[in-house]
Amino acid sequence: MFIVSEDTCKKLVGRADAFKAVEAVFAAMAKGDAYNFPVIREAIGHADALYGFKSGFDRSGLVLGLKSGGYWPGNAAKGLTNHQSTVFLFDADTGQLKALVGGNYLTAVRTAAASAVSIAHLARRDAKVLGMVGAGHQAAFQLRAAAEQRSFEKVVAWNFHPEMLPGLAGVAEEIGLPFEAVERERLGAEADVIVSITSAHEPLMMREWVKPGTHIACMGTDTKGKQELDPALVAAATLFTDEIAQSVTIGELQHAIAACLVREEAITPIGAVINGTHPGRTSDDEITLFDGTGVGLQDLAVASAAVELAQQSGEATEIAI
Ligand code: NAD
Repeated sequence: MFIVSEDTCKKLVGRADAFKAVEAVFAAMAKGDAYNFPVIREAIGHADALYGFKSGFDRSGLVLGLKSGGYWPGNAAKGLTNHQSTVFLFDADTGQLKALVGGNYLTAVRTAAASAVSIAHLARRDAKVLGMVGAGHQAAFQLRAAAEQRSFEKVVAWNFHPEMLPGLAGVAEEIGLPFEAVERERLGAEADVIVSITSAHEPLMMREWVKPGTHIACMGTDTKGKQELDPALVAAATLFTDEIAQSVTIGELQHAIAACLVREEAITPIGAVINGTHPGRTSDDEITLFDGTGVGLQDLAVASAAVELAQQSGEATEIAI
């Protein structure tokens, strides 16, 4: 079996690799060739930690495995990342352990790839202004990946903790995009694409602030009770997601579904757009919304890419167990 370290993943797995892997696995999911197994998530009653597994099988790419990990809130004080993940890949023909892959960097890069895939397939071609709601760890990855999908001319951003915005401004500067911190009303009025990536538990963007034709990638809501958007905004949009089962239970759509503002049948897996069985955006005035809930198959897809790249460059460590 092979071990691919966090550092090797950072060195070898670029945004384009992650985009390709995530787009392919979303397509396989929509065809029924890949499926996620039920997610396990438990409060373990120690160190305030939430621990769990996300797993699945992609029959088209023969990728089988799980991501193990969770959230340890005390880690930051120890100089460690609060979110901890490790990916295990198994040989689909024999069940033998094939690889152990550091999952922290890959989680960020696969989450950014998901919203980037949604922008590539759903945003207006002429989108010029990118709106960022959130400025935490994931936001920097999101900004870099989103910025590559259209010819953006400017970034407008808002964050609940304004002191975090200069960090995001630094990322925009690095990629050569003018950056402005704005109020949410202005963000909605100006942005052609909005990426939300916060740990909010209440609506941050309201229906009346968002202009027609906007594409929203809502990425922060990945647990029951979290929320980033006004349910009326959700109800006004054409709805896409990575996986419908997660979207209606732990994703952003949980709230509009609970309020009976949208029906599950109105939600399309983004893979259907990638496969060409759903047209995606059909007018310039339509608001499109991608509810990115984060599925295990995304982790397995990028981890599998990491193993392949590490094997090619001789940077995967081989051991026998
Ligand atoms: P972080 O702790 O680095 O940043 C948190 C962000 O949320 C910051 O912008 C912060 O200002 C904002 N925030 C905190 N409390 C808030 C509040 N009450 N109201 C509004 N905003 C608030 O976290 P991160 O690693 O950047 O993750 C951000 C979110 O993305 C988390 O909710 C995380 O669970 C989620 N996430 C989703 C996926 C996915 O696949 N969809 C993957 C990874 C992380």
